[in-house]
Amino acid sequence: KLFLGIESSCDETAAAIVAMDADGRGEIVSELVLSQLEEHAAFGGVVPEIAARAHVEAMDGLIAGALANADVSLSDLDGIAATIGPGLIGGLIVGAMSGKAIAYAAGKPFYGINHLEGHALTARLTNGVDFPFLMLLVSGGHTQIVLVKGVGQYERWGTTIDDALGEAFDKTAKLLGLGYPGGPQVEQAAKTGDPKRIPLPRPMKGEARLDFSFSGLKTAVRQAAEAMAPLGEQDIADICAAFQLAVADTLQDRIRRSLTRFTEEGLADGGPPSLVVAGGVAANGAIRDMLTGLCERQGFAFVAPPLRLCTDNAVMIAWAGLERVRAGLPADDMEIAVRSRWPLDGNAKALIGSGR
Ligand code: ATP
Ligand code: MG
Ligand code: FE
Repeated sequence: KLFLGIESSCDETAAAIVAMDADGRGEIVSELVLSQLEEHAAFGGVVPEIAARAHVEAMDGLIAGALANADVSLSDLDGIAATIGPGLIGGLIVGAMSGKAIAYAAGKPFYGINHLEGHALTARLTNGVDFPFLMLLVSGGHTQIVLVKGVGQYERWGTTIDDALGEAFDKTAKLLGLGYPGGPQVEQAAKTGDPKRIPLPRPMKGEARLDFSFSGLKTAVRQAAEAMAPLGEQDIADICAAFQLAVADTLQDRIRRSLTRFTEEGLADGGPPSLVVAGGVAANGAIRDMLTGLCERQGFAFVAPPLRLCTDNAVMIAWAGLERVRAGLPADDMEIAVRSRWPLDGNAKALIGSGR
């Protein structure tokens, strides 16, 4: 089976062609991603209006390019999958309308995909991970621990009650006068810093519920920076190192508890269990090292798909469509609407929900 995938929920426009064989193994035939990073950099964050216009300008060319690179025509496709939520409405409309128009014109089924489901299922394409597994999604817009039981079967075990982790990295970088996006800059600066010089809180550490909170940490960073002003290069490095360590410590506590719960609930009984990461923060070396060690100690395989498939892409959307077909789930009606909020474990077709 051959699918076209389309993604436009945030600041990446992407199109991809992905194939699945009879045994459920996937192959990426072509993939294109256009990041709008530079358009948003001056504003220190994603500007919805700019994003929507950029998606409009890029979408047709990217879809045509993905088809051409795959040497595939519309009649070869078995379905078209596009992200319909959660995300920024303007961008979602561009991708959904493009996908529906192509599906309609070519007489192919349309699949409206939850962006988070795309992230959740990627490791099955790249690493052949079996259900059930645990996913840690840490990006600019999301921070979640999700139990992935099957296609369309997700349990959200934890989420952030305020800022997303990538957002916390970005805000910290902005505060310290580092560029956007902040994650890579903070990680770089932290390399020469002393993580012990500035004491920072470990939000939520020790709490039984598996949620996250990063806004208190952000405030503590701001207060520390103000107390140390004017900041020299070493001061900035020390703050970054302290911030990164506080984040890694907090994550470690949350994930350790999650792995324990997974095992205690008997979910690991079917075979060696996996922890899968997704989202741009998965690029962070300190966080990766911490997760690698943690998984080793608790008997989990640590699975990190290639970084380009951890951040936003259309391969994961095409793949989610293919997984739905394989699971025997139906295509969507052309009337299906985009939605800005769409929790993974809510009613799949619900328009209202609690948080992205
Ligand atoms: P989504 O809508 O899925 O949340 P997004 O565009 O906000 O998408 P991603 O593209 O997956 O998120 O990731 C971007 C985030 O990852 C940014 O917040 C960025 O600062 C963070 N990031 C990137 N590299 C690193 C790193 N090395 N360390 C920490 N954070 C990082
Ligand atoms: Mg992005
Ligand atoms: Fe994403």
